[in-house]
Amino acid sequence: MRAHRGRQILVHRDFLSVADRINRYAVKNHLHLVITQSYRVPDKPVRNAIVQPAVKSNHLAGHALDFNMVYGGHVFESQEMMQNLFHRLPDAVIHFIRDIRADPLIRWGGDFTTPDPVHLDDGVNILNPEKWNAHYRECITDYANATPKWRRWVMLKRNKSGLDHRLGHNSINMQSSLSCSGKL
Ligand SMILES: [Zn+2]
Repeated sequence: MRAHRGRQILVHRDFLSVADRINRYAVKNHLHLVITQSYRVPDKPVRNAIVQPAVKSNHLAGHALDFNMVYGGHVFESQEMMQNLFHRLPDAVIHFIRDIRADPLIRWGGDFTTPDPVHLDDGVNILNPEKWNAHYRECITDYANATPKWRRWVMLKRNKSGLDHRLGHNSINMQSSLSCSGKL
């Protein structure tokens, strides 16, 4: 599992075990997941953090992942994973989805009333709205106070001409940590 364009995958710590199992199902079926979206910052985050958005997306609480699947050199996107096209998918992809659906703590977006086959979450918004509220607020605070690694790396790259040798070495470390930051 890795993030799109080397970005970090951000999830609430309570969702880590779920993300870890998703990763294990991918490894088991020899698939690579490219996470295209994890935690999503609300549109107007800080000022009205107490006001809940109308739609309680699990992305806003760090309890959801969107993915593309890479298998046999092919990237499977949403359209190809719709249920009516399922029979055309390779066994590995079908087995991965089957593993996900067999896990009682993971919801596959392909089963939603409006199918979203590239979405995975744990349904915390429905199963435990109070927990969703709490994690929604925690994520806003944590995100506001943290600098994502990739952003720091971009800043270092921009300032590279002014870096001394030691800092230049750090920026190399930063780059290598960037490439594995997406791994869970
Ligand atoms: Zn999603």
